Amino acid sequence: MSPFDREPGQIKASYTAHHVIEAIGQRLTKPLTFMEVCGTHTVSIFRSGIRSVLPPDLSLISGPGCPVCVTDQGEIDCAINLLDMPDITMATYGDMLRVPGTRGSLSERKSEGKDVRLITSAAQALSIAEDNPEREIVFLAVGFETTAPATAATILEAAEKNITNFSILVYHKQTPPVLEQLVKDPDLKINGFILPGHVSVILGHKAYRFLADHYGVPCAIAGFEPMDILLAIADLVFQHSNGESALHSLYPRAVRPEGNQKALDLISKVFTPCSARWRGLGLIPSSGYALKEEFAAFDALLRFGITIPTPKPPAGCCCGDVLAGHITPLKCPLFAAACTPMTPVGPCMVSSEGSCSAYYKYNRGG
Ligand code: SF4
Repeated sequence: MSPFDREPGQIKASYTAHHVIEAIGQRLTKPLTFMEVCGTHTVSIFRSGIRSVLPPDLSLISGPGCPVCVTDQGEIDCAINLLDMPDITMATYGDMLRVPGTRGSLSERKSEGKDVRLITSAAQALSIAEDNPEREIVFLAVGFETTAPATAATILEAAEKNITNFSILVYHKQTPPVLEQLVKDPDLKINGFILPGHVSVILGHKAYRFLADHYGVPCAIAGFEPMDILLAIADLVFQHSNGESALHSLYPRAVRPEGNQKALDLISKVFTPCSARWRGLGLIPSSGYALKEEFAAFDALLRFGITIPTPKPPAGCCCGDVLAGHITPLKCPLFAAACTPMTPVGPCMVSSEGSCSAYYKYNRGG
């Protein structure tokens, strides 16, 4: 039950945005900083102007919720280096193509004649493998709990069809472990999390409860409409004024408390948790997905005997600090100068969900 239900005299979910903003102002009794974890939330917050209507004592910071942005520099370089091997076709999602690596981007390698394909689904990568048996198709798989089930389903299909020219660079990441790292960061003071609605559709409520129960940080699961986000912000403010720390779902129309069991089963059938390296956040235990032993034939690292090189982030790029919530993009000396959406230096300017891209489009003046 959310505070909106418990305190109908003060605020109701059916009120207008104006009422919700007013209630936030009335119930805010001290400076608070909330983190919106998800890149889609970041963009929605900027696009709708939510920051501009919040009280000055209420700050929002963006977290590491853009899958393209958190993919480590070493992981990008590994994919680019793999194209040096014969007969490789690399298939991946849109924004990954433009992320600069140490030796250019996948898009630049494509313009040099390498076979790099833009895909919109994991299943499409497998179709390319079926249609091109003479080539080695490598699917560069990124994303959180939302995209990992589709990758798992594709692996199962590839195994069932005995497709032998298909492998994956598994760069998927898990959300709860990175949130735990953020609440433990002594340089950050997060008073509440606005949690991603789509990841929560898969995970349900349980996976985040430790944030409120163990670390005392209020949490609100939010949808992606501006009103969804405003209600989540109000919920967090209400929790503070009530002296509570709980996990509330403000997105019950999509998120079931138990999550999506079918998707979770797919993930656990194919993957096992492993440490993963996040851009700017380093190696985080149990925050990645490794293929289980029975699917090792689809592991591109094993198949081609390669390792992920030590990351060498672009000179001057502060994406790591932006993703860790330590600075806003405005503090990066390259922002809107050497680094723009047309000439991105780091992934946070490449991705449509990246903080730097959102600041550039909607908040260049600060
Ligand atoms: Fe990196 Fe560019 Fe953002 Fe600076 S402005 S942190 S260089 S993406």
